[in-house]
Amino acid sequence: MAERMVIAGGSIAGLATALALSRIGQDVVVLEQDAPPPPGSPQELFTTWKRRGVPQLRHSHGFLARMRNLLRDRYPDLLDALLAEGAQEQTFEGSLPPVLAPANQPAPDDDDLTSLLCRRTTFERVLHAYVSEQPRVELHSGVKVRGIRHTLDNSVPRLTGLTLQQGETYEDMATETIIDATGRLSPFPAWLRDLGVEFLEDWHETGIVYYTRYYRLLDGVEAPKRTNHSSMGDLGYLKFGVFPGDQQTFSLTLAIPTVETDLRILKNNDVFSQVCQRLPAFTPWLDPKCSEPATNVYVMGGLRNTYRQFVVDNQPVVRGFLAVGEAAIHTNPLYGRGCSLSFLHAHLLADAVATYPHETARARSFHHATQQQLQPFYDVAVKRDETNLRRAQQNMAGPPPPRLRERLMRSFVQHGLATAMRGDLNVRRAFLRDFHMLDLPNVAIRRPSVILGILRFWLRGKRRNAHLYTPSAGPSRGEMRRVLGLAE
Ligand SMILES: Cc1cc2nc3c(=O)[nH]c(=O)nc-3n(C[C@H](O)[C@H](O)[C@H](O)COP(=O)(O)OP(=O)(O)OC[C@H]3O[C@@H](n4cnc5c(N)ncnc54)[C@H](O)[C@@H]3O)c2cc1C
Repeated sequence: MAERMVIAGGSIAGLATALALSRIGQDVVVLEQDAPPPPGSPQELFTTWKRRGVPQLRHSHGFLARMRNLLRDRYPDLLDALLAEGAQEQTFEGSLPPVLAPANQPAPDDDDLTSLLCRRTTFERVLHAYVSEQPRVELHSGVKVRGIRHTLDNSVPRLTGLTLQQGETYEDMATETIIDATGRLSPFPAWLRDLGVEFLEDWHETGIVYYTRYYRLLDGVEAPKRTNHSSMGDLGYLKFGVFPGDQQTFSLTLAIPTVETDLRILKNNDVFSQVCQRLPAFTPWLDPKCSEPATNVYVMGGLRNTYRQFVVDNQPVVRGFLAVGEAAIHTNPLYGRGCSLSFLHAHLLADAVATYPHETARARSFHHATQQQLQPFYDVAVKRDETNLRRAQQNMAGPPPPRLRERLMRSFVQHGLATAMRGDLNVRRAFLRDFHMLDLPNVAIRRPSVILGILRFWLRGKRRNAHLYTPSAGPSRGEMRRVLGLAE
C-alpha cells in the first residue's frame, strides 16, 4: 500500500498499531516525543529511562490474558522475547488458592486464562525492539507533535499535516492519515475543537488516587507461595494489589477513593509501609527476610474514564484522522485493562484499514467495531466506579441501614459468590474470563451453570461453607485510621 500513515505517540498503543499495520503491508511512521528505551539491564532501564510522556511508567502494570493471548496467537516470538527478559506467566492453576487447588482438573481452555507479569518498562522496551525490526515501520524518538494542519473538504476539516519539534527545530510534515496514539493526555482533542470539530467525548472521574511502590526480592529468595488471601482486595476505603514483576521485583499498589482526603498521606514511604504491613495479603512479601523497598512511593491522581468518538451519526467529523488506545478510550487503571484495550484497538484499526481502502468506510468500520468490542468495557468501568465512589461516601458518613434488596445482594455476594469462587472451579473460571476480558463484560458470569453454582453455595449455608470464607482482608476503616493517628 502506497499510503503512508503517521502515528503520533510511540508507547504501547502506538507501537501495537505500527505492528498491526505493518503486518497488513502498510507503511507507518511513528513519532514519539520521549527518548527511546536506553540499553542496559532491565533494572537500569527501570531506574534511568526518562519518560515524561508516560507518568504511569513506574506504576504497577499487569497484562491481562486477553492481550497475552493476542501475543501468543499472532506474535509468539514477541511473547518469547518477553519471557526471555524475565516476564512471568501466571497460569490458571498457579492462581488457585490452596483451598481450591487440590480439586483442580485441567480444562481445555485453561491456557487462555494466563496473564503476563513484568514491569511496564521491561514490557515496553521488548515491544519497542520488536516493532523497530518490522519492515515498513519507521520509529522516530525525540519528535514532539506541536500542532496540526488542515483544509476543508466539503465543510469537514481534513488533517493534512503535522507541525513537529525536534530540539530547537520546527518543521511541517505532510500526512494522509494521522493516527493519534498520544494517550490519555492527548493534545489532539483541543486542536480539533479549535477547528470546530464536534466529536463526542464522554468522561467520568474514576474517583481514585493510585499509590505504587516497588520492592526487590532478596538474592536467592523466591516469591512467597500463594496463600488463601487474595492478592487483590477491596476494603471499601482502600483497594490493594500485589504485582509480581520480572527479575526478582514486585510492586504493591494501594488506591483510595478521592473523597478520603486524609489518606493522601500514603505518599509518605513510612505511612505506605504502615498500611501495607496491616494487609495480610502483603505481609509475606514484606518480610525483611524476603524483600526490601527499591523505590519511593509513586502517586497518580486526576484519573478519568474517557471515551471519544470521531464518527457521529455515521459520518466522520474529521477526515485524515483516527485515534487509537488511550487517546480514544481509557478506563480506571485498577481494572488493568489499558494495554489489552490498546492492543485490541490497534488490531481493529488494522482490520478496518485492510478491509476498506476508502477512508469514510474505514472510519465507520473502525468506529462500529470499537463500539461493539471496546465500549462495553468502558460502560462497565464507569458504572463500577460510580458505585464504588457512592459506597466510599456512605462509609465516611456512617452507612445507612441497608434495605432488604441491598441486604440480600450483600448476602448473595458474601455467602454465595465469594465462597463459590473458592469452592467451584466452574465459577472461578467464569470470573477469570470476565476479569481477563475474554468475553464482553458479564457474559461469562451470567451463564446459567455459573449462576446455579453460586446459588448452590449460597443456599447450603454458612456451616457447610465455613472452610471457604476468605480470611479478613485487612482492618476496618476506623481501625486503620486509629493506626495512622487520624480522627475517626
Ligand atoms: C496508574 C496507571 C496504572 C496502569 N496499570 C495498568 C495495568 O496494570 N495494565 C494495563 O494493561 N494497563 C495499565 N494502565 C494503562 C496503560 O498504561 C496504557 O493503557 C498503555 O500505556 C497504553 O496507552 P497509550 O499507548 O494509548 O498511551 P500512553 O502510554 O500514555 O502513551 C502516550 C505516548 O504518546 C507520547 N506523546 C504524547 N504527546 C505527544 C506529542 N505531542 N508528540 C509526540 N509524542 C507524544 C507520549 O510520550 C507517550 O509515549 C495503567 C495506567 C495508569 C495511569
